[in-house]
Amino acid sequence: MDIEKDKRYGWSVTALTDDTAAWLAEQPGMADITASRQTLLEVTTTSDDGSEETTTVKGGRQTSKNLSIKYICPKCGTIIRATREVNVVCGDCGVPFERA
Ligand SMILES: [Zn+2]
Repeated sequence: MDIEKDKRYGWSVTALTDDTAAWLAEQPGMADITASRQTLLEVTTTSDDGSEETTTVKGGRQTSKNLSIKYICPKCGTIIRATREVNVVCGDCGVPFERA
């Protein structure tokens, strides 16, 4: 059972990487980016729910991809980012962070 699980997990990761590579190859302007290895492209898309997805491409290769949600302390204005929905309280002010 454990071995089967591991195999399935490994296959999932490979499939995701392939899909991501295929997606990147289909993006407009990818040919130009690949041609110039100095090019650094960062694309940030904001969803209706406030979550941001940032994709950084350097030299035609994807270097990072983060799905982050921005939170702000309504009292002191401190901004934090989380990779998922979290319920956090500002240690200085004692008030909960709100989604920015
Ligand atoms: Zn605060």
